Amino acid sequence: MKLFSIFGNPVSHSRSPLMHNSVFKNLNYNACYTRTHLEDGTKLKETFFALGLSGANVTVPHKEAAFNACDEVRGFAKTVGVVNTLINENGKLIGYNTDADGFMYAIEEFGTINNILVIGAGGTAKALTARFKQEGLSVTVLNRSEGRLSYFADLGCQTFSWENFKLETYDLVVNTTSAGLKDEELPAPLELITTILQSTSYVADAIYGKLTPFLKLAKDQGLTYKDGSDMLLGQGVLANELFVNKALDKEAIKTEMALSFQL
Ligand code: NDP
Repeated sequence: MKLFSIFGNPVSHSRSPLMHNSVFKNLNYNACYTRTHLEDGTKLKETFFALGLSGANVTVPHKEAAFNACDEVRGFAKTVGVVNTLINENGKLIGYNTDADGFMYAIEEFGTINNILVIGAGGTAKALTARFKQEGLSVTVLNRSEGRLSYFADLGCQTFSWENFKLETYDLVVNTTSAGLKDEELPAPLELITTILQSTSYVADAIYGKLTPFLKLAKDQGLTYKDGSDMLLGQGVLANELFVNKALDKEAIKTEMALSFQL
């Protein structure tokens, strides 16, 4: 039996085990997916191999550590330096990023989007922003601290911290911070978020399975919003395809994974 896991801190909230196990069980693929709480990202590689894993997903806050842990990084993950999917290829650790394409899938229903405000500057923000820029979209990044903004400025984004933020009009505002994940915090001060929400058509949060304080404000303002569930589904389908290496049909993976959301 092949073993897979998700690494994170926190990780107990993760729906990935349920999603992937539903696919494995219902499509008769001999594998099991567990969760691994990891404090120290530098221990990722040794823990992966000590557990005898065939593959893994990586969540907050270890996606950049995962990039550094890989023997080889492929595709879009190389562009962004952020890895959320790991594959054991003959004892070598190979890294991929499926988050960004998962998010593109999630916002298809919003129709044409040109201007995006990304709140946050972590691994998820990097992946989404680099993907948005590939699509030729205009992106502004707002983060709590200045330190991580240079990556986004180099991509051609407008970048701001809370102190110097300059409001414009957006088609979509997306929260990529972990504010609201295990607390009830907003991703920026209330006054700032309130004016931002008055200047956008659509709102999305990468956090899934709960109405974050950010999404609650969007809801209260009558905006069209979505949580990170569809992003989760999109990235999960792509990760599972890598795990089974073409042994299962993509549409079947998607169907089983989507059904697991109702469990
Ligand atoms: P990182 O740890 O790489 O980045 C976290 C970011 O959040 C940083 O910009 C940090 O700001 C900011 N931040 C953290 N706490 C606060 C706060 N209280 N107020 C304001 N800003 C804050 O995390 P990831 O990018 O890996 O993940 C971010 C979120 O996205 C997580 O909640 C994760 O669960 C979710 N996610 C969901 C996915 C899905 O499939 N739905 C896929 C990927 C991620 P600073 O730089 O100042 O520290």
